[in-house]
Amino acid sequence: MQDSFVHKGKRKNLVEYLRYRIGISDENVLSAMNEIPRHLFIESIFEDFAYEDRAFPILAHQTISHPSTVAEQSELLQVKAGERVLEIGTGCGYQTAVLLAMKAHVFTVERQKDLFDFSKNKLRELGLYPKFQSFGDGFAGLPTFAPFDKIIVTCGAGTLPTELLKQLRVGGKMVIPLGPTDEQVLYRFTKVGPTEFEKEEFGAYKFVPMLGNTNQ
Ligand code: SAH
Repeated sequence: MQDSFVHKGKRKNLVEYLRYRIGISDENVLSAMNEIPRHLFIESIFEDFAYEDRAFPILAHQTISHPSTVAEQSELLQVKAGERVLEIGTGCGYQTAVLLAMKAHVFTVERQKDLFDFSKNKLRELGLYPKFQSFGDGFAGLPTFAPFDKIIVTCGAGTLPTELLKQLRVGGKMVIPLGPTDEQVLYRFTKVGPTEFEKEEFGAYKFVPMLGNTNQ
């Protein structure tokens, strides 16, 4: 699959939709989403719909998030160039690519081996290089690389992964969907002191579940 003028045109329309219909205003997010070819992260049968606001199945019974969700989570994260961002749930690597296009230093964890392999190859193929890609359980975070400026969790957690909050620097933010498997609420935690957090709420979503351990 190539990145043609048709794809680029559809991507521009998606960005306008994100700006005017969804209300995304962070130019850094919008230009990153204009840059990253989402159709290259999904199966070719979905190619024609890649720039609609839809989720699609990826390997290991997981899903690529809606573009509006990727944009909203990225905006809530308030990413600045050069910040260290930990992503839990690499999936196909699309959100990772968006964070890299926002010039973040990305550390990402995936528990499904098929998706870990797929995303690693895909990002390399596109000339995108996370600082570290890990096959492991995101509940543990990546203590050797902590602290992080930002943490983004792209799967719905039934319980708050407290280990991740420990790996955030004071002043850092974590965006995470929390709740039961049928529906979660998107939260942003801001670390205001070593053990103190402010919590904001951003509405209902449905993410694939955050599961423990790894899956070969
Ligand atoms: N950001 C991805 C979204 C993928 S869906 C994208 O743009 O496509 C969420 C991903 O979280 C799935 O791939 C799932 O396998 C992964 N996941 C679930 N629980 C996890 C855990 N404990 N650690 C790491 N990844 C996890």
